[in-house]
Amino acid sequence: MLAVARWADNLHLTTYGGSVDFQLTDEQLQLQAMVRDFAAREIAPHVHEWDETSHFPLETIKQLGKLGLMGCIFPDEYGGSGYGYIEYVLAIEELSRVDGSVGIIVAAHTSLCSNHIFLAGNEEQRRRYVPRLASGEHIGAWALTEPNSGSDAGSARCAATRKGDRWLLNGTKTFITNGSYADICVVLAVTGAPAAGAASVAEYPSAPGDKTIGTRGLSAFIVERGTPGFRPGKKENKLGLRASDTSELIFEDCEVPAENLLGVEGQGFVDAMRVLDGGRISIAALGLGMAVGAYDCALHYSRQRKQFGRPISDFQAIQWKLADMATEIDAARLLTMRAAWLKDHHRKTTLESSMAKLYTSEVAVRVANEAVQIHGGYGFIKDYPAEKFYRDVKLCTIGEGTSEIQRLIIARQLLPE
Ligand SMILES: Cc1cc2nc3c(=O)[nH]c(=O)nc-3n(C[C@H](O)[C@H](O)[C@H](O)COP(=O)(O)OP(=O)(O)OC[C@H]3O[C@@H](n4cnc5c(N)ncnc54)[C@H](O)[C@@H]3O)c2cc1C
Repeated sequence: MLAVARWADNLHLTTYGGSVDFQLTDEQLQLQAMVRDFAAREIAPHVHEWDETSHFPLETIKQLGKLGLMGCIFPDEYGGSGYGYIEYVLAIEELSRVDGSVGIIVAAHTSLCSNHIFLAGNEEQRRRYVPRLASGEHIGAWALTEPNSGSDAGSARCAATRKGDRWLLNGTKTFITNGSYADICVVLAVTGAPAAGAASVAEYPSAPGDKTIGTRGLSAFIVERGTPGFRPGKKENKLGLRASDTSELIFEDCEVPAENLLGVEGQGFVDAMRVLDGGRISIAALGLGMAVGAYDCALHYSRQRKQFGRPISDFQAIQWKLADMATEIDAARLLTMRAAWLKDHHRKTTLESSMAKLYTSEVAVRVANEAVQIHGGYGFIKDYPAEKFYRDVKLCTIGEGTSEIQRLIIARQLLPE
């Protein structure tokens, strides 16, 4: 009896309240159908060639801008479509289902570059930059990573020093999506100790480290293409997502007007973490789309391919693979949509965004792997899309924080100091 009471005392139940509505609205279904149709017509016929030649699909991106898909998450008054993250996830998923390269181009442009300006910018900066980005007239990039500072973003060395009414930027950013094509870059640089009014890093426990000057003294700047001293450097030759551009950015005594400081001086790291809360939802959507694309190909192939006189989908080994793939994709979608829904309800989503990003990207890798397996030897051949999904999905476990860093963020949210 005593033992039972102790056991019960140690049982801690969490109650979750409220109802759950999984139904998409008519408007959301229309948007989904529109993007699906666009991807099938305008993207699918070119994917193989773009991948082979690492062709950046600028014209397609401009078309997406005309359709309102380069600024889904921004209000009409800033030139956006007035949608939220649910619609943004639907759009990125549908694009990535056909070509993850297009998905990542839109994601880095929207939820990293444009959203940093929208989130941290003053009214003048918002009005000046967000409409041009949301229309697709200008392409955006967001530069945090450096050659020696990836997961440990706080150890950044790219420096900005004040010189009268200008900032002088010196340093190199690496692996920057859209880097060679960007008209507008948001660049994180070290400015020194935080200014009065900057939020403390402790307010954002997702920060992997808070000991270095970078986390306490990082600031964000808007740098426009053509600014003297700023140029794209090496364009990376990648395993996957080859039609997306991933480039180095070089700053050599690059003079940026003082009014291009984005947000409070010294608060760049905290703002970057806030930006990544939204960005990670887009990487979850990217992984989700590619997982669905790989699954669809595998399902179709399993019904066409005959061995031992029967379609391979008749074999239980293949059925179980498909069952696991479909189940994991559904679970990934639920996590992604939950994070999107919370974001649309203005809730802090550090935990939920990381869970969605971690799980979805790892599911995408598993699903793409099984898709190749179901295709057998044809899965290894470039005539079938399975091998491309297999190469492309890997980025999802690396970009915007690796799987290891997502686990670290999740654990810190579960075990706050
Ligand atoms: C295609 C592509 C596009 C990208 N786009 C952008 C972009 O637009 N903007 C941008 O700023 N960056 C971008 N990145 C950079 C990306 O965010 C970084 O590559 C990523 O954060 C990892 O940093 P790193 O490559 O330096 O790896 P590292 O940080 O060196 O990590 C190497 C390994 O060590 C592990 N590790 C590191 N620290 C820890 C720890 N504390 N605990 C456990 N494991 C750890 C990592 O998980 C990883 O497995 C892009 C990268 C790629 C490949």
